[in-house]
Amino acid sequence: MQLDQATTEQLRDWESTLTQEYQQFKASGLNLDLTRGKPSAEQLSLSDAINEILGGDLSNESNTDLRNYGGLDGIPECKRLFANVLGVSAEEMLIGGNSSLTLMYMAAQFGLHQGFGELGASWNSEGSTVKFIAPVPGYDRHFSVCEHLGIELVTVALNDDGPDMDAVEQLLKSDPSIKGIWCVPRFSNPTGAVYSDAVVDRIAQLGNIAGGNFRVFWDNAYAVHSLSDDAPELANLMTSCRKYGTENSAYLFGSTSKITYAGAGVAFAGMSKANLKAFTHHLGMSQIGPDKINQLRHVRLLKDADGIKEHMQQHAKVLKPRFDIVLKHLRDGLGNTGMASWTEPQGGYFVSFDTLPGLAKEVVKLAAEAGVKLTPAGATFPYGKDPANSNIRIAPSVPSLDEIDRAMAVFVTCVKLASVKQRLS
Ligand code: PMP
Repeated sequence: MQLDQATTEQLRDWESTLTQEYQQFKASGLNLDLTRGKPSAEQLSLSDAINEILGGDLSNESNTDLRNYGGLDGIPECKRLFANVLGVSAEEMLIGGNSSLTLMYMAAQFGLHQGFGELGASWNSEGSTVKFIAPVPGYDRHFSVCEHLGIELVTVALNDDGPDMDAVEQLLKSDPSIKGIWCVPRFSNPTGAVYSDAVVDRIAQLGNIAGGNFRVFWDNAYAVHSLSDDAPELANLMTSCRKYGTENSAYLFGSTSKITYAGAGVAFAGMSKANLKAFTHHLGMSQIGPDKINQLRHVRLLKDADGIKEHMQQHAKVLKPRFDIVLKHLRDGLGNTGMASWTEPQGGYFVSFDTLPGLAKEVVKLAAEAGVKLTPAGATFPYGKDPANSNIRIAPSVPSLDEIDRAMAVFVTCVKLASVKQRLS
């Protein structure tokens, strides 16, 4: 039944049935969790060969003693492997530690305090508050990087084809203190949006609007994480940047956190040679070299682009049925009710769900009281504040199929109950 077509009497009946259903869930003592997007144990096990793969053989292309210090920017074969993922050349790659978020944090910190070497002075030296654009809903840890460093966040809408580029361009034209934009261009966290070719092309031109010290933080965390073979591809940002002479405006990031091990993978960044020179100089002040043995392990396990593709198909086999259950519950339970909308992603780790305005916190609270933990409402917005109080991120990778099934039944009931109550009030 459509919510806005129900009579008051029908709504009251509905409320009483849903309350009973909800109380039954509450009494059944559930303890389910649909919060953080991390790989399940089953997915992690897909990479277990990595532990034996070297067999003591540390031979590598450049005949370096990988056990020793050095090689700050990573080993060549690893650069080549992941340059392909980011769509840059191997000379534009840096292989870092185990976390791309750390590389992003450092990039923002270097931008604020140390600057860009021959490319420009620090953002702080310009003397005004530094701001970043945050397409919303977005990834909470991007926001916390900025919040922690004192960078102000300005939001724009994230549409199905990427950020609202009219709004982005307008902001950059009117406010020179905007120095960056967060982008998760393929299977965005949380909506699953894949930026269209036209949006990528416009993003490549931002450097020409904003000036030399502006950086696109292109966090391609889900670059190869499609759920099916026909998922949309992403245009190559660096190629477009070369067309417009804006190579220096792009910082590209990625990692194997959701390819191999989330706690023991490798992280990488792609950027112009001039950016890389400044970045590695600053990085060299905090370390002498990364774990190159882990880099070699990754090269031996994944081998090349085809190897990565085959490996990711194994992940998709584990993940896809989980997404299918989530979507089936949403379609069967909430389709044509006018109570909600949601995304149907073709990759990544999340489904983004919108309640009617004003209900997300209530739904998360109801679900928690019935034993289903959800990411806090508001987490997908800077400062934890979703102005419409409607967005909820659903992360189905970790629970079992049966747990997702049970959790989603509770979730759908909570959404219906909150929506009917709101309509009645
Ligand atoms: N970027 C995005 C968009 C993510 O969703 C995540 C993980 N949730 C990360 C970065 C973290 O990556 P890493 O493990 O490489 O730090």
